[in-house]
Amino acid sequence: MAELLVRNARIVYPATRGFVVDRGWLLARDGVIAGLAAGDVPVDVGWSVAGRQEIDAAGMTLLPGLLNTHMHLYSMYSRGISTGRVSHGFLDVLQDLWWRLDRSLLKDACWMSATFSGMDSLRCGTTTIVDHHASPSYIAGSLSTLSEALNKIGLRHVLSYEITDRNGIEGAVAGVDENIRFFDEVKGKGGLASSMVGLHASFTVSDATLAILRARVGSRKVGYHVHVAEGAIDEEDSVEKYGKRIVARLDNAGLLSPRSIAVHCVGIDASERELLAKSGTPVVVNTMSNMNNAVGLPAVREMLEAGIQVGIGTDGYTANMFEEFRNTLVGLRHRYEDPAGFWTQVQQAQIETNADIVSRCTGCTVGRLEEGAAADFILVDYASPTPLNSENAFGHMFFGMSADLVDTVVVNGNVAVKGHRVLAVDREDLERESRKVAEAVWEAFDRLSWFPTGV
Ligand SMILES: [Zn+2]
Repeated sequence: MAELLVRNARIVYPATRGFVVDRGWLLARDGVIAGLAAGDVPVDVGWSVAGRQEIDAAGMTLLPGLLNTHMHLYSMYSRGISTGRVSHGFLDVLQDLWWRLDRSLLKDACWMSATFSGMDSLRCGTTTIVDHHASPSYIAGSLSTLSEALNKIGLRHVLSYEITDRNGIEGAVAGVDENIRFFDEVKGKGGLASSMVGLHASFTVSDATLAILRARVGSRKVGYHVHVAEGAIDEEDSVEKYGKRIVARLDNAGLLSPRSIAVHCVGIDASERELLAKSGTPVVVNTMSNMNNAVGLPAVREMLEAGIQVGIGTDGYTANMFEEFRNTLVGLRHRYEDPAGFWTQVQQAQIETNADIVSRCTGCTVGRLEEGAAADFILVDYASPTPLNSENAFGHMFFGMSADLVDTVVVNGNVAVKGHRVLAVDREDLERESRKVAEAVWEAFDRLSWFPTGV
């Protein structure tokens, strides 16, 4: 029996119906929260358990770990890269950067991206990532490579491989197979790994590929993780080729369900919102990425009014969910010219909806501070200059806390970060190794300078 006891913590659950305990304790047993309460640790939680780890939080704030419901670990290789081109639109961004970069990834680059980018996520207080992976030059086994690295550093993960036709039918089928192979590998095993089936986007996945996918999935109960209407090209392509809008196409293919994730949804219309709501499919918005790519921001107010669950991810733009949920709020206020809007909605999206999404993906309760939930939490070294209570806890998280203040991160009852350090890696060694791997990735990237631009 593995136990971890945290004492002297200010326990804050910053949900819309959350709570604050000024000084309390939390006991994790075998990866789940076995108890938490105010005051001193009672004798009956079992002081005699041998080998139990203890942490004196010394007044630090204990929060549920942050969840990133749309991530691309490999995006870290774009830091400092030069494409040698000026991208004029969304498709250019894909062709000039991302589709050249993912082709440049081999096994060691996948492993390193999971280790390094995973380390960044942990250090920012993120305890689960829902990743969407692509490495067309190394497809079979790629999800296991990522998972092995993420298990080693102790980050909970939901992985999928993006199926796409852009590498020919062989590449598409290999993508399908990798998703199914990994699903079967981790299904029912417990631990930190879970899986979804990834699709790049409607405009790069043909009906023929969807038919192959359906046949291979068979009776498996999978969730699908797909980019939807990120750029205008996606919706235009669907209407032109298939005579229907993207979400209708996904619905017809049986891909919508509460276990699935529709990412972005910048260009969807009311009929598509209705289908998402009816099927219980959540949308994950990625404000900083959308603004960076100048594709506009999704109609979140209309989505919520339609009854869609809206969560928040980073799209690989950053590992820092504190930055992302802050920018989601200000981005939406700017979009709707509403300086008082979206406070509760962003709070709910970050704290509750992301928890719902990850809990459905993993099959266990994640992102909540309650008995029986996964013991995934963080200690933040936050000094509060003003009163902190259950009504204003999210205000403190929003305006006062930050990734820099995350001292300790616990995932599945195991300490992954202590004193701002990821325990499983030597950061200097990792940095040296990562730069070597990145040089090889960039050389391959440069060799793909012939990659076509435009449609
Ligand atoms: Zn994405």
